[in-house]
Amino acid sequence: MKTGLIQVYTGNGKGKTTASIGLAIRACGQKLKVCYTSFGKNPGKWGCGEHKILKHLGIDTFCFTQEHPHFHKSLTKAELKNRHSKCLKDLIILLRKKKYDLLILDEINNAIFNGYIEEKEVLNFLNTKPKNLEVVLTGRGASKNIIKKADLVSEIKKIKHPYDKGIYARKGIEF
Ligand code: ATP
Ligand code: MG
Repeated sequence: MKTGLIQVYTGNGKGKTTASIGLAIRACGQKLKVCYTSFGKNPGKWGCGEHKILKHLGIDTFCFTQEHPHFHKSLTKAELKNRHSKCLKDLIILLRKKKYDLLILDEINNAIFNGYIEEKEVLNFLNTKPKNLEVVLTGRGASKNIIKKADLVSEIKKIKHPYDKGIYARKGIEF
């Protein structure tokens, strides 16, 4: 690929993470080199189906900042910020070593929205990314500046969600 673009999947409806996984699989099918990262998810504990299959497909998959603040209330915002910041720095080093074509940053928009990662750190990351690298940022509440920076922005709007009638996350459907 020549120039990698920046994509954002945001909004309050279901389908942001699954869209990014679909893209990762499509890219993999075309022999592109894919890196999939997630923020605030703990697949060791919850066993996200997507992480298993991505690894199985040979896609480098990393779960950054596995401690979701909702489940780790003892973690301070400052500590979470440190952890997120370190993840981004580690990622920059990784990108220098491996020549990826596609990078997914799952739930990074939420991390910015919740103040666990500085928007300017993410913008700096996007400004200095390898030219060929396509980057996807998922998560609710994408910031104005991230949207401004992106080449493609899709907002998934909730019309209905089973959660509203008490049907909670189902294995294989939501995780
Ligand atoms: P998915 O992972 O299924 O593609 P998503 O990435 O768009 O969904 P998130 O905003 O990351 O959704 O939300 C995390 C979880 O909450 C997912 O399991 C998702 O199915 C569920 N969810 C998505 N939208 C809603 C909603 N409007 N109300 C309640 N739960 C939702
Ligand atoms: Mg998601």
